[in-house]
Amino acid sequence: MSLNSTAKQSLEDALFVKGLRSTKQREIIYEAVLNSEDHPSADLIYSRVKEDMPGISLATVYNCLETLTDCGLIRQVNFERQPSRFCLATAQSAHHAHAHCKNTGKVFDVVLPAQFFDELNKYLPADFQLEKVDLCLSGKQSLSQKN
Ligand SMILES: [Zn+2]
Repeated sequence: MSLNSTAKQSLEDALFVKGLRSTKQREIIYEAVLNSEDHPSADLIYSRVKEDMPGISLATVYNCLETLTDCGLIRQVNFERQPSRFCLATAQSAHHAHAHCKNTGKVFDVVLPAQFFDELNKYLPADFQLEKVDLCLSGKQSLSQKN
């Protein structure tokens, strides 16, 4: 497994802005998040990248995840009393909320339509410039549901 050239370029560009350079570890962690749709925790990412990079430590995984989050490449998703989970930050994902199912432990994306933000703005002070919404929803999905 390795990053495609577009992903590699976005990684290098985002790190460069922060005065950092790409490393094999950052690349492999970014790739792991890029290829995961299940919002993995650091532990899960660690177990996935260990296959390709047996010498990597959990501390390195945490450091890389922090760097990639700071660079705006990935998003950290936090639910109460749960380890942080990670997903890819894209232009579209800036407008997605996260829902956590207490039955299955699954975290999934909920795309928020533009109307949602229009409506939300009505409840904010007129001079408040909304830049970012971090919305985490908790609930229970029917156990019979398969997706
Ligand atoms: Zn997500």
